[in-house]
Amino acid sequence: MIWAEGPTCPHCGACDQIYQAKPERKVRTRLKKCGHCRKQSTVRVGTIFEDGHLPLHKWLQAIYLMCASKKGIHSHQRMRVLECTYKTA
Ligand SMILES: [Zn+2]
Repeated sequence: MIWAEGPTCPHCGACDQIYQAKPERKVRTRLKKCGHCRKQSTVRVGTIFEDGHLPLHKWLQAIYLMCASKKGIHSHQRMRVLECTYKTA
C-alpha cells in the first residue's frame, strides 16, 4: 500500500533512481538506496514498524492474533505461535 506505484524515497520523495542497496546485515534484505539524496531506506521507514527488529510478517501475524480473538491472546500463546521469545511476544 505504501509503495503502490513503486519504491519512493521517504527522505526526499523521489521515485526515480531508487536502487537495491547492498544489505549490511541479513535483517535488512529489502534495503533501498536513493540516487538523489544517497540515503538508505526500507518500506518500514515512516511507519510504526521502523525501529523494530522483528520481521514484518510476524508483526502482522501478532496484530491479527490480537484482533481476531474475542478475549485477546495471552503472551505465552503468542510466543508459541510466532516462535519468538517471551519478551518479544
Ligand atoms: Zn532520496
